[in-house]
Amino acid sequence: MQDHDNAMPPGSVAVVLGTRPEIIKLAHVIRGLGPACRVVHTGQHFDFGLSESFLEVFGIAEPSTFLGVGGMTRVGQIGAAVSALGDLFAEEAPRVVVVQGDTNTTLAGALAANAYEIPLVHVEAGLRSYDRRMPEEHNRVLTDHLADLLCVPTETARANLAREGISHDGVVVTGNTVVEAVLGLMPGPEARHDLLASRGLTAGRYVLSTFHRPENVDDPDRFGLILEQLGELGHRVVLPLHPRSRGMARTFGLESLLEAVEVIEPLGYPEFLGLSAESAYLVSDSGGVQEEASIYKRPVVVVRRSTERPEVLGTFVRLAHVDEITELASGWLADIEAVHDSLADIPTPYGDGHASERILEGIVSMVSGDA
Ligand code: UDP
Repeated sequence: MQDHDNAMPPGSVAVVLGTRPEIIKLAHVIRGLGPACRVVHTGQHFDFGLSESFLEVFGIAEPSTFLGVGGMTRVGQIGAAVSALGDLFAEEAPRVVVVQGDTNTTLAGALAANAYEIPLVHVEAGLRSYDRRMPEEHNRVLTDHLADLLCVPTETARANLAREGISHDGVVVTGNTVVEAVLGLMPGPEARHDLLASRGLTAGRYVLSTFHRPENVDDPDRFGLILEQLGELGHRVVLPLHPRSRGMARTFGLESLLEAVEVIEPLGYPEFLGLSAESAYLVSDSGGVQEEASIYKRPVVVVRRSTERPEVLGTFVRLAHVDEITELASGWLADIEAVHDSLADIPTPYGDGHASERILEGIVSMVSGDA
């Protein structure tokens, strides 16, 4: 990757992030920016397993600023982060602010940049689920309408923006930075073999699952139904449990249902990628997993009402209502090898692994005043 250090003064680009997927998808941009980058961590995800270990594995230094807004309500988090970012920008305004995705942190970064009239870059712009019940949908729509440079992963995302009247020169199709993140950290065949051996797993004979969305884990009936079905899949199910979901299972008294699956701590990124790539299939409500599956070519049952990632729907991803997991998965199980073969040659719609370089070019132009 080109070295952009000289073109930009130290600390001139503030990258605002606060969760695991933001670190994953901004890692190569941060590294490419070098000393020009000032990482501001809001603390939305504050524990080691969901944040620090991800910075470490991508070789990113400790954030220069940590705002500590974890464990609050949505409105509390957004309000506190906007206010703290405002103080920071008032003290020393960066030339550009970069945010990614659709979290409360993303929106807070966008609002603070807007209030201080600092040009805003939105990485992974233009995604739409058209499901207004999801807070993430509002976060991404609002951020897109505030952004000056919108780095969209696909033509579908560009078309979504055009429908909302956002079709200026600042909309650039870059691909999705998740591709370089996965390609950079996916363990090789030997490491994957060792990973499975250390956990007593057989390739293609287990299911990997993640759940953390409020729509699934904040409702005792839904969460219970999900866990019940995971326990009945007829395969070993490995469930790295998000701390939020673990807390909810305890609150709702669902611990007995966890006994039918193998609950483990959230995994580091390379481990999670290695186990995903060797699994029979995944069952998840994650956004990022849907994209990653198209890179390591595994099918995913996505337990959600909608997806903002239609590019992988019907190939790598099947959407399931909360009571349809067993039915969908058992269809696949009948001949999982055939399913894997059918996916093996489908290219990922998320690009060539150079999205971060294109995003960096856009940021450099903004900082140097060419854009
Ligand atoms: N992930 C991980 N370890 C785990 C579970 C997930 O590294 O134990 C990664 C996964 O590969 C994906 C990201 O975390 O890139 C997804 O994070 P999350 O589900 O929290 O957010 P979302 O993608 O739904 O925004």
